[in-house]
Amino acid sequence: MAEAKSVQERICERVEAEISPNCMHRLPTGECEQPENLPCPIHSNIARIIEIVRSVSSERIDSYIDRLRAEVCNVCGMQDEFGQCCMRNQLDCCLDAFFVLVVRIVEEELAREL
Ligand code: SF4
Repeated sequence: MAEAKSVQERICERVEAEISPNCMHRLPTGECEQPENLPCPIHSNIARIIEIVRSVSSERIDSYIDRLRAEVCNVCGMQDEFGQCCMRNQLDCCLDAFFVLVVRIVEEELAREL
């Protein structure tokens, strides 16, 4: 019998199915155009994102964004000492661009755990 998937596996699968096809970095071949040394900010931070969504309960997306900036953007390496990120400013970070959808997917999958 196949083992049940973890919540993180289910979230990653849904990100692949529901967000990746619309990602600005997706090539027509289905591959990511980003170089290997620039990993997908959604997948590479998914454990942190899950913990953020687990510990925030708010109607306002700003509450989640504040934690995203503090716990992900601060360690991402793309943000400067003034809190500015050139990728975010150019709408070129898929985590930032699709963050509302990422939060919704994580919330739905965490609710299945209850
Ligand atoms: S918005 Fe910038 S600092 Fe934040 S995750 Fe995206 S690339 Fe990194």
